[in-house]
Amino acid sequence: MRHLAAILLLFFTAWACNSPQESKAYTIVCTTGMLADAVSVLTEGVDSIEVKSLMGPGTDPHLYKATQGDVFALSRGDLIVYNGLHLEGKMQNLFHKLPPERVYAAAEVLADSMLINASEFEEAYDPHVWFDLSLWSTICEKLSQRLQLAKPEAADIITKNESAYRQALMEAHQTAIKTLSEIPEKQRVLVTAHDAFKYFGKAYNLEVRGLQGISTTAEFGLRDISDLARFINERGIKAVFVESSVSPKAIEAVQEAVQRDGNDLELGGELYSDALGREGTEAGNFLGMFYENLKTIEEALR
Ligand SMILES: [Zn+2]
Repeated sequence: MRHLAAILLLFFTAWACNSPQESKAYTIVCTTGMLADAVSVLTEGVDSIEVKSLMGPGTDPHLYKATQGDVFALSRGDLIVYNGLHLEGKMQNLFHKLPPERVYAAAEVLADSMLINASEFEEAYDPHVWFDLSLWSTICEKLSQRLQLAKPEAADIITKNESAYRQALMEAHQTAIKTLSEIPEKQRVLVTAHDAFKYFGKAYNLEVRGLQGISTTAEFGLRDISDLARFINERGIKAVFVESSVSPKAIEAVQEAVQRDGNDLELGGELYSDALGREGTEAGNFLGMFYENLKTIEEALR
């Protein structure tokens, strides 16, 4: 009799482990670290959710190609969250092949009037929307609604998380406005490797210049370097920035060109542009990354 009970228990355990309702977590696959962070914050405390980020620290989303493992994760994921607006340029076809109800382009919820035109591509918008925290807050609001649709039983928790997070985003937004307004207007110019900071510049009143356009796929030539060096010399700019997800060579070439003309130009530090910092560091989450950038910019331009 005891034997039978043990066998039944074993049988039941095996059945429970194989039962999809019982054991399978709802898997949300995100492309960028910024999106994975938003989804993790919004679903904090919700049972049986697994959040995966395909692009790790230092990854350039414009050039990123899906690995075999990514393709598998995308095909198995319950919900795929990507930025859109052509940020993930080399993955676009993959998203279009998936069932539309499982795919969500987080940045494409913004109205056209909120977006910045991409000068180098006709009828395209700049995808770097995360650096205007008022836009990111709207993106989180809509993302929260999508997550509640997926997990209606957890709507209360998600709504609570959303409200706390959007408040934290707006606090950081106000801090950025105040901090950067204290930099003398003449020095309020941000020169970086590629145009990832146009929304940042627009929201926080900074002029921005990138050596490459809004995508790192475009080549830059000697002409671009000398044009940017001339701009820096004419404006008396003291510091330029390298980016964590773009090779520093380009911006170092600009620095050399400026120095050849006998002017001083410092590297103002490294900005996180299209990827979060390493896990466990200050910049390992989105708000931390934003504050780190703010500190780097303020110290170099002040
Ligand atoms: Zn970019």
